[in-house]
Amino acid sequence: MAGLEEMVKGYAPTDLLYLRDSYMKACDCEVVCFKKDGKNAYVLARGTIFHPKSGGQPGDVGYIKGESGELEVKKVMGVWTDDGYYVIHYGKGSVGSGKANFQIDWETRYLYMKRHTAAHLLDHCLAEATGTKTLTLGSWLGDPAYLDYAGSMPSEDQIRMAERLENDYIHQGLPVSFSVISASDATRLGAPNEERLPKSAKELRLVRIGDFEWIPCGGTHVNNTKEIGHFTVKGVNKIEGGYRIYFDVDKAIG
Ligand SMILES: [Zn+2]
Repeated sequence: MAGLEEMVKGYAPTDLLYLRDSYMKACDCEVVCFKKDGKNAYVLARGTIFHPKSGGQPGDVGYIKGESGELEVKKVMGVWTDDGYYVIHYGKGSVGSGKANFQIDWETRYLYMKRHTAAHLLDHCLAEATGTKTLTLGSWLGDPAYLDYAGSMPSEDQIRMAERLENDYIHQGLPVSFSVISASDATRLGAPNEERLPKSAKELRLVRIGDFEWIPCGGTHVNNTKEIGHFTVKGVNKIEGGYRIYFDVDKAIG
């Protein structure tokens, strides 16, 4: 990705609007730089509502409509440089510099928000059902959605119990809140995963469901567990060093 780092050089890090308000479906942003690639183009803007592919969450898709053209966004990539974090949109078409209208495919994004929140909640419910702290190895919130955990596979009863607990918490309508702390505070407080923070990161975003543990996370979540609707474990299997839980949530929108 050396080319992308080159592309963002000299520009300010991207204003990540999706972190401030994950429910923004459209917004006007200023395109500061674009690079054509045949019939496609890379686009960098001052701010964006497009979530890049990261942390197991697929990138958003949608459109960027400017005065001189339109980009059908197919891929969204995050790039860390010494200056900070940048989001680059890639897709078909082209859009020139200046003000443009950004629109994400809300149905897909909202599903990711529900799955993402459900995934955090499963960490908690699984720990409650097994009596052991969970260690996540990885996750994918696209199709099929899954979470990978370290350690030995829980029993069928424990999995069903975690699923039941999760649905209880969903129906209780627990609020999902977030807080941003400085990177130096994160180091001082020994925040989990703090060592994975890039050196140019100035702050750490923490997310919390109800009054459960704080989780460092830069993804998009729903505001209330009720929005997840219903949680189902689709299957469990062994993987190297642990096990994988396939899951899904209600696909209905709103
Ligand atoms: Zn998260």
